[in-house]
Amino acid sequence: MLTDLVTGLEVPTDLLIGGRWSPADDASTFDVIDPATAGVIATVANGTVADAGRCVDAAAAAAAGWAATAPRERSSILRRAFDLMTDREEQFAELIVRENGKAFADALGEVRYAAEFFRWYAEEAVRLHGELTTAPSGSNRIMVVRQPIGIALLITPWNFPAAMATRKIGPALAAGCTVILKPASDTPLTALAIGALLAQAGVPDGVVNVLPSRRSGPVGEAILGDPRVRKLSFTGSTEVGRSLLRVAAEQVISSSMELGGNAPFLVFDDADLEAALDGAMVAKMRNGGEACTAANRFYAQAGIAEEFTERLAQRMGALTVGPGIDRANAVGPLVNQAAVDKVSELVGDAVSRGATVSTGGGAITGDGYFYAPTVLAGVPAGSQLLDEEIFGPVAPVVTFETEAEAIALANSTEFGLVSYVYTGDLARGLRVSEALESGMVGLNRGLVSDPAAPFGGVKQSGLGREGGHEGMVEYTESKYIAVAW
Ligand code: NAP
Repeated sequence: MLTDLVTGLEVPTDLLIGGRWSPADDASTFDVIDPATAGVIATVANGTVADAGRCVDAAAAAAAGWAATAPRERSSILRRAFDLMTDREEQFAELIVRENGKAFADALGEVRYAAEFFRWYAEEAVRLHGELTTAPSGSNRIMVVRQPIGIALLITPWNFPAAMATRKIGPALAAGCTVILKPASDTPLTALAIGALLAQAGVPDGVVNVLPSRRSGPVGEAILGDPRVRKLSFTGSTEVGRSLLRVAAEQVISSSMELGGNAPFLVFDDADLEAALDGAMVAKMRNGGEACTAANRFYAQAGIAEEFTERLAQRMGALTVGPGIDRANAVGPLVNQAAVDKVSELVGDAVSRGATVSTGGGAITGDGYFYAPTVLAGVPAGSQLLDEEIFGPVAPVVTFETEAEAIALANSTEFGLVSYVYTGDLARGLRVSEALESGMVGLNRGLVSDPAAPFGGVKQSGLGREGGHEGMVEYTESKYIAVAW
């Protein structure tokens, strides 16, 4: 247990299995690093394959009892979790800043968003409806009930350590499933603190198990290889998602995948430019650019491209960069050195092909993993950063002439998570929204995430939806009963 990292917040450092905190089976540990200083802030138990087996045993032992718990009781527990998290929002935000690096305001925004998944699914827990119809032949009734799918493995990334966990735990618990949460190794502390919070909210032993581990491959395979496990919900990179789908295929496990993005941000000549710039800043800089929903490519129509680029550069250049724990800083560090190296490489590639740097353009030397907010103008086709997730504070701008060209450019990617469109013509906005190949569209909005809405991607950005009503359905199976009476 860490007592001095964040005042007033219980931050365990062991594994949570069957309601007990315990070290790893082989007593191994790993370090958690503060990206603002590159210093070690905590040492956490490093779960083994044997621990993974203990997690499945614990989740299996709790499964029948939790599935039989009254929906109202499950709802009340989730509601208490919302209240507890809201009461401690500042402490949770500070913890996220310490292990992830993001600016304090972004961390606080994440905690509020994360807590909302507990509240939303507290409300949904009592609204899991079935169906009753008469068979077309008239011979019987068709009755459909929704049952909890069973034990779920939840694997989360480091960029939203709280929200990606609650977006899965909330609907799973509401539906009556027990879970094993495997958080990212860069940010295990928030997940462990959420485990402690859920126990305090009244979640019975074994319903939520938390397994930090640097051995993510073997641990994931062990859990998915157990026939008692029936659900995989993964948020992370497309590459890892693909490999987990192969593993899940062995036991034909139902899989929800929230994968990478490459969001286009289209600004038409008729857009309200001030609003488009506000939206661009949110879509690009929420989380310092480390978001799957981050605007990755800006397409500006010829009539406003120059002014848009110039004003975007002014706004990006004015952001204060520094440790997120200092609330005056708008942009924190990237998560680790590998992230800085990747962003540097992508910017270097674009510049070598002829892009010009309007502001920023490089890593910031000194302690921690900082990169300057950057705008690149005239980015030529073929530049790597138009095809890959940048995952950093870099905005490449490309000019287009026609609506058809904008749609073609936006869709020229294997990803399809979210797109953004700014236009003053609502008919055009809706026409373009329908033509964009993405699971979500922000139309004159730079932020789409909402616990009440179905979040997810098409193409290689994922399978299934999280949030909204659909998010809970993902943790259920339909059972059809042919009834004659
Ligand atoms: P990642 O490298 O794919 O890791 C995600 C999680 O998978 C981590 O917990 C990681 O554990 C685990 N993992 C890695 N290899 C594994 C394996 N072979 N078997 C089982 N688990 C494995 O992604 P990330 O770098 O943490 O996150 C960034 C990515 O997430 C970006 O691509 C971003 O777009 C995507 N993302 C998508 C959404 C969405 O909703 N669509 C939301 C947020 C982020 P370790 O940390 O221990 O390796």
